[in-house]
Amino acid sequence: MSVKILLLPGDGIGTEVVSVGRKVIEKLSHKFDLDVTFDEGLIGHAAIQATGEPLPQETLDKANQADSILLGAVGHPSYDNNPKAKVRPEQGLLKIRQELGLFANLRPVKIFPQLIDSSPLKPEIIEGTDILFFRELTGGIYFGKPRGRRDDDKTAFDTMVYSKFEVERISRMAFEAAQKRSKKVLSVDKANVLESSRLWRETVEEIAKDYPDVELTHQFVDSAAMKLLTVPRSFDVILTENLFGDILTDEASQIAGSMGLLASASIGNKVGIFEPIHGSAPDIAGLNTANPLATILSVALMFEIAFNRKDIAKAVEDAVEKTLHQGYRTGDLVLDKSLIEDNEMVLGTKQMGEKVVENL
Ligand code: NAD
Repeated sequence: MSVKILLLPGDGIGTEVVSVGRKVIEKLSHKFDLDVTFDEGLIGHAAIQATGEPLPQETLDKANQADSILLGAVGHPSYDNNPKAKVRPEQGLLKIRQELGLFANLRPVKIFPQLIDSSPLKPEIIEGTDILFFRELTGGIYFGKPRGRRDDDKTAFDTMVYSKFEVERISRMAFEAAQKRSKKVLSVDKANVLESSRLWRETVEEIAKDYPDVELTHQFVDSAAMKLLTVPRSFDVILTENLFGDILTDEASQIAGSMGLLASASIGNKVGIFEPIHGSAPDIAGLNTANPLATILSVALMFEIAFNRKDIAKAVEDAVEKTLHQGYRTGDLVLDKSLIEDNEMVLGTKQMGEKVVENL
């Protein structure tokens, strides 16, 4: 097997975790006799600094030539505190998703038994949780137009817009995935208030007719947010739109224990992007304390989805599980922060990566 992987480290801890991801892929290429070629590109703040643009054409060209992409994160505090900045790192991420047609974002939320005590939620509530989110990624309020300001900057507006075809294509993916799991899809919307949600619900109902073996239910997003924390085990495949999915998956990361654990796959018609769900975490950037497991698990997803190598994905997941079983943690996985200092079982980003590679 010969593959070309584009690395897009981005900003902040993105560079730290992608460098770990690369080491894991290198190990896999030896272990499974793969011919892997790496390329690297700029995105986000790093790209703005170098070229003035958050997604330079050169990066997009490299993306189009790659077999798969591993992305870190984008974002920098200088923009977060400046709402009027016209050029922003996140535009790079939104644009590459749109340009590559990556309309579906898959986010698995599973509990590693070894981390059952790392979650702020009670073990008896989270035990056995196994959710697969399908978040629509290129529509909704993040892309809708018009958006802007009026009334002398005293009013701001965004547009939440969905067309039927956008709902249809991600719904089909969710139903197909459900057929391979417990044959249940929960569609999350706000159809009691939003017109776009009413179209969403109608369309999902229509698509459901093609999958008679899958049971479809609906829930309002506010209720889903609450139930995720009280009965997370009751969820299986969750299908939802862009903004709701963004918020619900961050919430769900706390069931697993940390933002640093959740991987994601953004897929569509062409090359896919595999990335941790977390951001650039400027508060810990450069400290070698970021948890690289979300990125390592994104590598597993890449091999499973992009390269159809479930065996390799399983090897990566097993190595992560073994590392956790040996008792190694990054600081985010230790609830009592007073136990972190001088604790040889609490590893830095690089060292956690090395342990996983060793276990591979
Ligand atoms: P964030 O995910 O970067 O961080 C939230 C909190 O979780 C922080 O306290 C951070 O330290 C912690 N955290 C995140 N990932 C971690 C990891 N791997 N290990 C340990 N702790 C981790 O979200 P934020 O603070 O809201 O945003 C920071 C920047 O990232 C902003 O500029 C935002 O726009 C950007 N952002 C980018 C993406 C992306 O690139 N996909 C996603 C979300 C936010």
